[in-house]
Amino acid sequence: MAHSLSPAIHNAAFEALGLDMAYVPLPVRAEDVGAAIKGLAALGFRGANVTIPHKGAVLPYLDRVDGDAALVEAVNTIVVDGGELLGYNTDIEGVRAALVDACGDSLRGAPGLLLGAGGAARAAALALARLGVDLTVVNRTAAAAERLTALMSAAVPGCVCRCLPLAELTVAHVAAQSVLVNATSLGMDGESKVPEPLTDTVTAGQVVVDVVYTYCGTDLLAQARTRGATVIGGLEVLVRQAAAAFELWTGRSAPLEVMRDATRQR
Ligand code: NAP
Repeated sequence: MAHSLSPAIHNAAFEALGLDMAYVPLPVRAEDVGAAIKGLAALGFRGANVTIPHKGAVLPYLDRVDGDAALVEAVNTIVVDGGELLGYNTDIEGVRAALVDACGDSLRGAPGLLLGAGGAARAAALALARLGVDLTVVNRTAAAAERLTALMSAAVPGCVCRCLPLAELTVAHVAAQSVLVNATSLGMDGESKVPEPLTDTVTAGQVVVDVVYTYCGTDLLAQARTRGATVIGGLEVLVRQAAAAFELWTGRSAPLEVMRDATRQR
């Protein structure tokens, strides 16, 4: 929260479009989530973002929740519309838009590996499944990967999705993929790194997405870049989810380059 780049991204975008709006970071304790959400309309807010760890906790306090946000059980964007609170998940669009920018529609039928089964991974899984990626979900806790696999298979017609415990991930699994996505917290400052079968096997033909963002970039992305892979960093995913939220709040096209510049100036 304290290190969030979202205020810089959105305030730069508001200024660029001459909008009389401001984005302020407001820390909220878990026990105050309901009161904080209900207060948004009374305080005249146009909307809000919700960040870890409250993305699931806000759902019961909203008047309506978009179908995709309900599916992935996480709301990261709230729109206040005529006193009603509407919940959305723009992390899905963040991953989708970043991948489409880099790959066009070339991912249909392509094998892809998603590391993680938490909130960010559920959003990424929906984006990948809808892009037609033939998906393997790999997670430390096998039960969470199984649940996510079942969720995608039920929600996305024609979806091919299977799971694998992280402990069973091999170099051969990684080498067989066209797209590799890290949606765990591995690689964040102070966390363990993404496991070696992933970082050490990346090849030039692969697309590597790391939703984690750090000021220096992650080890996974550095390795992937060195090996000639196409890389999409967490900052680009962050900007694309912010752009989708901006458009929901303002009804205007998001100034993507202004938003990207704002992340570079921090
Ligand atoms: P989360 O719901 O807590 O999920 C964490 C995931 O990481 C789980 O799959 C967990 O596996 C795995 N994990 C954690 N520690 C691990 C370890 N030591 N070894 C193996 N797996 C481990 O968190 P989240 O909301 O999904 O967020 C994940 C990351 O995405 C964070 O770094 C967040 O900042 C980032 N994120 C970025 C964006 C963006 O716009 N770029 C948007 C959203 C989130 P288990 O199931 O086994 O616990």
